[in-house]
Amino acid sequence: MPASAVRIRSLRKTFGSVEAVAGVDLDIGDGEFFSMLGPSGSGKTTVLRIIAGFERPTAGTVELGGRDVTALAPFDRDVNTVFQDYALFPHLDVVRNVEYGLKVRRVPRAERRERALEALRGVRLDGMAARRPQELSGGQRQRVALARALVNEPRVLLLDEPLGALDLKLREEMQVELKALQRRAGITFVFVTHDQEEALTLSDRVAVLDRGRIEQVGTPAEVYERPATAFVAGFVGTSNRIGDVCVRPEKLHVDTDAGGIDAGGTDEGGTGAGGAGPGGAAAGPEAAGGAGSGDRHALGTVAEVVYAGAATRFVVDLDSGDRVVALQQNLRTSSMDVMRHRGARVRISWHAAHEFRVPGAFPLPPK
Ligand code: ADP
Ligand code: MG
Repeated sequence: MPASAVRIRSLRKTFGSVEAVAGVDLDIGDGEFFSMLGPSGSGKTTVLRIIAGFERPTAGTVELGGRDVTALAPFDRDVNTVFQDYALFPHLDVVRNVEYGLKVRRVPRAERRERALEALRGVRLDGMAARRPQELSGGQRQRVALARALVNEPRVLLLDEPLGALDLKLREEMQVELKALQRRAGITFVFVTHDQEEALTLSDRVAVLDRGRIEQVGTPAEVYERPATAFVAGFVGTSNRIGDVCVRPEKLHVDTDAGGIDAGGTDEGGTGAGGAGPGGAAAGPEAAGGAGSGDRHALGTVAEVVYAGAATRFVVDLDSGDRVVALQQNLRTSSMDVMRHRGARVRISWHAAHEFRVPGAFPLPPK
């Protein structure tokens, strides 16, 4: 088996009394797009700075490509870092910013110019070579920072919230570009973000961090569909608790056709017995429900309806006492007339296959 691009063992870092990294083990594969996802203060930047060599760990080791680099200086490691604020040199034009690392490594002038222009072509900025950073937009500066790191052809590129300063539209565009760039270059990316959607969109695998510890490592689908802990269930997307199981809001189907719903129903929802009994509630209005329905259901009353264009959010108080959020795509509903369902009796249904369990409690979804 080839050595991991990045291998971290028993990593700890304390700042005074603050335990920023509290025992982290990680193996990141060659060519992987790997994300570290966690809330502010969870230790993401500290782990990244330790991999880069800007910070010395209190304990533990870092290997790059099978070599222990724990004691090596940043410039002796085959990594480059892209920071959130880009850290471009304002007095140098774009091409000189990109060349900088090659110049430090004494690459001959003609070669480094050629490679810098090539890197700029890679981020579609070769027409901007003579500009100063302040003459560029935020997205363009971000691409210069990427070119400046990629020109050194590192084995591992570390990215600390590199899209954090961009507005939503540009961030989404850059996500697509970043992913394409990583595939093309075949470089291992270690990408730090607090944005769960960004992590799920971009990554081959995600590590979810909380308070200096890794809660779960897995593919986006594993982390989202099968959260290992209550923290992951609450931080990566939102989750409902129904009895002793959890179900994602978009996996709940709301049947608002209340005509056949009996308020005094014997429905047991997801409490374990779950699902329709023989000839039970499944014979109701959802009998022909198809894809949206499920083999588990519960009755409740709509506490709130929020129309959000593409989707509608229902907040439903189940008769069992659980409050759940259900997200319904507005496939057929094209107006705000969903609002009239506030206060209505509804049946929530879902598939047992979409249930998951996590130990402990997590915060209920917001009202
Ligand atoms: P994140 O990047 O996930 O927001 P950080 O790694 O920056 O988290 O920080 C983790 C914890 O370590 C925080 O509590 C932060 O305040 C603390 N910390 C980080 N760097 C330092 C430092 N140089 N001195 C003191 N405390 C620090
Ligand atoms: Mg940070």
